[in-house]
Amino acid sequence: MSDYLVKALGYNGQVRAYAVRTTETISEAQQRHDSWRTASAALGRTMTASVMMASMLKNEGEITVKVEGDGPLGHILVDAKNNGSVRGYVTSPHVDFPSNEKGKLDVKRAVGTNGTLTVIKDIGLREKFSGQVPIVSGELGEDFTYYFAVSEQTPSAVGVGVLVNADNSIEAAGGFIVQVMPDATEETISALEKRIGSIRAISLLIEEGLTPEEILEEVLGEGNVKLLETIPVKFECKCSKERFASAMISLGVKELQDIIDEDGKAETVCHFCNEAYHFSKEELEELKNEALQRN
Ligand code: ZN
Repeated sequence: MSDYLVKALGYNGQVRAYAVRTTETISEAQQRHDSWRTASAALGRTMTASVMMASMLKNEGEITVKVEGDGPLGHILVDAKNNGSVRGYVTSPHVDFPSNEKGKLDVKRAVGTNGTLTVIKDIGLREKFSGQVPIVSGELGEDFTYYFAVSEQTPSAVGVGVLVNADNSIEAAGGFIVQVMPDATEETISALEKRIGSIRAISLLIEEGLTPEEILEEVLGEGNVKLLETIPVKFECKCSKERFASAMISLGVKELQDIIDEDGKAETVCHFCNEAYHFSKEELEELKNEALQRN
């Protein structure tokens, strides 16, 4: 089963809901970055929330999410598009801790509890929208809930989970976001609070193999979900050798000559996907010529 996201309405349109399966996507991120268990959970939770947030944007919108905590992970950086493509990395992927007192991966310890969560939205306008909140939990689900409440004034429930095997491979990943529309009645809000307060942990739902549609039925109640759209989700990076080549050209003639003289070759690695691009001496000479022409 490939990863996908569903958008839906509930309670006769008083509630907007999103759910996603990201198992393959987070698996690819884990393999590309060789991330350890707790780091994978933190990156996976952020990527899962981000791809749902990107799906809320119109047109060809993109979102960048930065989690900059004071934990050993360093920062988490994720880009997601509203077509379901998402990429991301953590500064230090080799982070793992024993499980916390609830038997869960100790994401809070890896992320840290001081710092900021920043969301930058690009919907093709001149101005980008950006919102920032302090990290309130470090477990990330609650941090996104807090972001929606404070930065977007949208009461939301965010559940994101990643199950990681002992060998660091990803067993399952996914999540949901439920948002209450301004016209929601008190009755709807309290019914929803009751349901969300009593559902099982998202990671358990994912472990049981629930589809995004089934996750929404758990969250909103059977027969209470009106599906609007399905979007395939995958790990995808927009890097290419051409992009790195133009970055190299912008280093300038002198810098390029130094690289040619000292190493005779160059390798650049994309932070987001860990893909390495090699430049031979001949290619560096070509880039230098291009830089010369630009002068
Ligand atoms: Zn890349």
